[in-house]
Amino acid sequence: MDQVFDPRTNYKQTQKDVGYVTRKDATQEDYDRVGFKAGLEVHQQLKTKKKLFCNCPAGIYNDDDNYDAEIIRHMRPTLSELGEYDGTALMEFKTRKNIIYRIKNETTCTYEIDDTPPFPINREALDIALVISLLSKLNIVGEVHITRKQYLDGSIPTGFQRTAILGVEGEIQLKNKKVRLIQLSIEEDACREISDIAHVRTYKTDRLGIPLIETVTYPDFSNPDEVREGADYIRYLNRSTGKVRVGSGSGRDDVNVSCRGGSRVEIKGVSHNKQIPELTHNEVFRQFALLKIRDKLFKRFPSSKKRTEWSIVHKTIKPDKITFNINSKQKGTDKKFTYVSINLPGFKGILSHFTQPGQMFANELSDRLKVIACIEKPNMIHSEQIDLSAKNVNFHAIRSTFQSGKNDAFLLIWGPEDDIPTAIDTIEERCRMAFEGVPNESRKSFKDGTTIFERVLPGADRMYPDTDSPPIPIDDKDIKQFNKELPIEIHKRYTQLIKWNFPIDIHGYILRNNLCPLLEKIFKDLDIDPKFIGTLFGHTLKHHLGQIEPSPDFKYERIYDLLLFLKKNNLDFEISKSVIPQIYSHPNKDFSSILKTLKFKKTSRPNILSKIPDLNKKFNQIHVSKNSHSRVDWIMGKLRPFALGNMDLKTLSEIVEKKEFSSQNKIQT
Ligand SMILES: [Zn+2]
Repeated sequence: MDQVFDPRTNYKQTQKDVGYVTRKDATQEDYDRVGFKAGLEVHQQLKTKKKLFCNCPAGIYNDDDNYDAEIIRHMRPTLSELGEYDGTALMEFKTRKNIIYRIKNETTCTYEIDDTPPFPINREALDIALVISLLSKLNIVGEVHITRKQYLDGSIPTGFQRTAILGVEGEIQLKNKKVRLIQLSIEEDACREISDIAHVRTYKTDRLGIPLIETVTYPDFSNPDEVREGADYIRYLNRSTGKVRVGSGSGRDDVNVSCRGGSRVEIKGVSHNKQIPELTHNEVFRQFALLKIRDKLFKRFPSSKKRTEWSIVHKTIKPDKITFNINSKQKGTDKKFTYVSINLPGFKGILSHFTQPGQMFANELSDRLKVIACIEKPNMIHSEQIDLSAKNVNFHAIRSTFQSGKNDAFLLIWGPEDDIPTAIDTIEERCRMAFEGVPNESRKSFKDGTTIFERVLPGADRMYPDTDSPPIPIDDKDIKQFNKELPIEIHKRYTQLIKWNFPIDIHGYILRNNLCPLLEKIFKDLDIDPKFIGTLFGHTLKHHLGQIEPSPDFKYERIYDLLLFLKKNNLDFEISKSVIPQIYSHPNKDFSSILKTLKFKKTSRPNILSKIPDLNKKFNQIHVSKNSHSRVDWIMGKLRPFALGNMDLKTLSEIVEKKEFSSQNKIQT
């Protein structure tokens, strides 16, 4: 008869059917098999004093609960100029969100809250963005046209973002391929989200309006590591101007991913490039899994009429009829929730179908219940639950009330009565999408490399002209001047780092911090071995940065000053490694006092060398070991405190070794 259905086995089997491999094990063949394709939208805040369209200061952030006023808004969709509603707009409307803006007077004026039209565009920001456009080999537009891009999640109080394209059709040179750029735009950053619980979403307006650029690539990346390489390249390119913000959240990527036959899915706001490989890897397999689900449903519903007619059946049930193993607070019995059981015809084996590591198709439903119907999790259980919470649910009773077939699956959802109609619609809508394959959506990323539904992707017609802003002509003279002053391209910097013999594992650190110009200056002015500087910057600096919180006044230029000081005073550069941790915490302290705290005393080379014979004697007396290595080590241990900074330790060690041999020879003869 009917074999007992085990969701755990089904999950494992479907994971296998999809051909999921971990990223560690994945090869280019795996990515070719699923048709991996990805493109990037790299956002970067510019380092300007003021915001883009008003005179409020940029880059001042306060704690979440430090604010002067709150404004509450409710978003409503309006017909676009083409007479259509946008999908995202409708979704946002369904959520019936109240949007709260927390405002700090210092960082917000009437422009941000949509009470006055924009001021003229910030020229400082425009100039930086143009330089970056030129560096990205884009063709610069003749005239800048400000347009409005619809934003209906509330993150911009006006409901749209002011944005302008500055350049089109450029390219960047990666190690093995060129990646084409579609365009670069300048735009205003959106609000910072503080929380999003049930029907209330809270934002802070300090970030709103900060000048931001967006570099958009073609979907030219064919594996996850390549996407990361591209994201790094664009980030380094932006930073090479020295005119962009570098703090956390000042650079964010949206990563567009699709598999063959899938749809464009946008993973939003990835702030650490190192997460990109895992995220894109998992997303491409999630899409591939959704296509497998579609194929299965097609087999079960071969006629298109049947597929179009497919619908769920639902029934409100009394909570006292339900017994299941989650606590009453989660179940919402305290809050008088409404309970609805839902029959999904032909969905057996689909709910527990693999989608992402540790997740199954049922998660896609639960995620949408949270985001669209605003019902906090846990908001449902289902007939193919792997964990124990569903064990005591009487799914047999539910099955009999629906008189449903053995290939059906069931859900039990709950939430406030007002949210239930949206919840039921949401479940039906997502299940119907399973017949299509991969829904167009944006997804939020998690540290573990998985993603969660965030929004329906907006249609193409979300841009329209900004009637408040006149076009801004671009002066050819300015462009010529910018072209003369462009920083060196990143791929040339890589070549330079290799030429300097810098270890590969520190290239990223050097480029991320835009240290090449400083390094060039050090080599030009101070005549130091590049290898020494490589270790100093790549290892000493990087190591201490991880250990000590640097003072906000710390600047890398201070390292140049230190090396110059050592050279002028005829001191050995090696001592810089001991001074650097001090500079981190006290960047303004003068170097002589730092050396004093390190108990450094200036002494001559002959004076140091003169101590060697006595130390040799002493070593022989105390008989620590006759081994020549331990002899050198012991003597160097004694000499190091005097010698550090006064002479090269490697040379000293060589001399000690020689003296040691000669004295040993003496003893032997
Ligand atoms: Zn303002």
